[in-house]
Amino acid sequence: MFRTAIPLGHWAGIRVGAHWSVFVVLVLIADLLASTVLPQAAPGETTTSYWVAAGLTAIGFLISLLLHELSHALVARRYGVGVKRITLWMLGGAAELEDEPPSPRADLRIAVAGPVASLVIGGTALGTAMLAARTLPPLPVGGLVWLGVSNLVLAVFNLLPGAPLDGGRILRALVWQWRGDRVKAVAVSAKAGQVLGALLGAAGLAQLILLRQFGGLWLMLLGWFLVFAAQAELTTGLLRERLEGLRVGDIMNPAPVIAPGWWTVDAFATYAAGKSRDRVYPVLSFDGVPIGIVSLGDLAHLSEKDRRVTRVADVARKEPTVTVADVDAPVTELMSGAFVGHGRDLVLVTKAAGLAGVVSAEDLARAVELAALGHAPRAANPDSAGDVIAG
Ligand SMILES: [Zn+2]
Repeated sequence: MFRTAIPLGHWAGIRVGAHWSVFVVLVLIADLLASTVLPQAAPGETTTSYWVAAGLTAIGFLISLLLHELSHALVARRYGVGVKRITLWMLGGAAELEDEPPSPRADLRIAVAGPVASLVIGGTALGTAMLAARTLPPLPVGGLVWLGVSNLVLAVFNLLPGAPLDGGRILRALVWQWRGDRVKAVAVSAKAGQVLGALLGAAGLAQLILLRQFGGLWLMLLGWFLVFAAQAELTTGLLRERLEGLRVGDIMNPAPVIAPGWWTVDAFATYAAGKSRDRVYPVLSFDGVPIGIVSLGDLAHLSEKDRRVTRVADVARKEPTVTVADVDAPVTELMSGAFVGHGRDLVLVTKAAGLAGVVSAEDLARAVELAALGHAPRAANPDSAGDVIAG
C-alpha cells in the first residue's frame, strides 16, 4: 500500500516516509483553516496571514501525527521489537513493526503510547493557547487551539476498540492477557474492527444523506478502510495460526540447482539451459558461502561480450534486496514481505554460514494450502531423516 512513499529522512533512527495522499489532506486542512476556522477565531487579518498561519498549523498537525507514530515505535523498540518504517498517509500514520510484540503487556504499552502522545500534544497546545491568549495575537492562538483540539480528537478516535486502530490493539492485548491465547485475541480485535468500520460507514452515509454534509464521505472512507484492514488482519491471523510451529527448514527445497559464483555468466547460462527448469538460482562462493540469488532475467541484461567476462557473483542480487532466513526460523517470519518487491523471488535458507536450501513463493503458498487441508508440509530434510532403520 505504501510502496510509493516519499522519504522524510530518519527520526530517532527510524525511516520515515509520507504517502502522497497525506499532502492532499494537508492542503485540505490548510484550506479549511485559512477560509473558515482562522477567520472566525481571529477576524480582520489579511488573506496572506491566514494562509501563512494555516500552513504552519497544518505542518504542526503533520508533525504531531509523526510524534504519535514515533511513540509507538520507540516503545516497541524498548521491548526489543524492531520498526521497519513509519509511513504517514491520508488516514493518519502507520508504524510497521518487524515482529509481533512478545507479551500482552508489551502489546498494550506499544498500543497506548500513540494516543498518550496525542493527548499530551493536544493538552500542551490547548494549555499554551490559554496561557498565551493575552500576550499573543489571536491568529497563532487560533492555530494552537485547532491543533490542540484535533490532537485530542485523534487520540479519542484512535482509542475506538477495533483493529487496526490503537484501541483494537489494546483490546487484543487485554484478551490475550485474559485468555492466554494470542490467535484468539487477534480474531476478537479484528472482528471488532469490522463491526466498528461498518458502524462508521453507516454513520457517514447517514451524515451524507440526512444532513447533506460532505464530511460523511470522509467517515465512509474511514469505515471502508477499517473493514478492509480488519479483514486482512483476520486472514493473516488465521494463516499464522495454521503455520504455527513450522520452521523455514520444513518448507524449503533442500536441494536447489546452484549457480557457482566464480563461473562466467556464459558458462552458467549454458549449464542452466541444460540442467534445470528454474528461473532463479542461489549463488554460492567458491568456499560454499551463499552470496545472493541470480535470475536468468538478470543475466539477459548483459551484452554478449560482458557475458563472457562477467562472473555470476558480480551480477548476483545480495542482501538487503534478498531475504535470508535461518533454517530454524518460524515460517511466519516469511509472511511479512519476504516475496514482495523486485528481486525477492527466492529466500536463501542458511544453516550456520552455509546454504541449507531455498524457499520460493510457490513453496510458501504450498505450505499454506497444505496447512489449510490439515497437513504439515515436511521437506525431505537430510538432517531430520534420523529414522533410518539400521540394518
Ligand atoms: Zn496509533
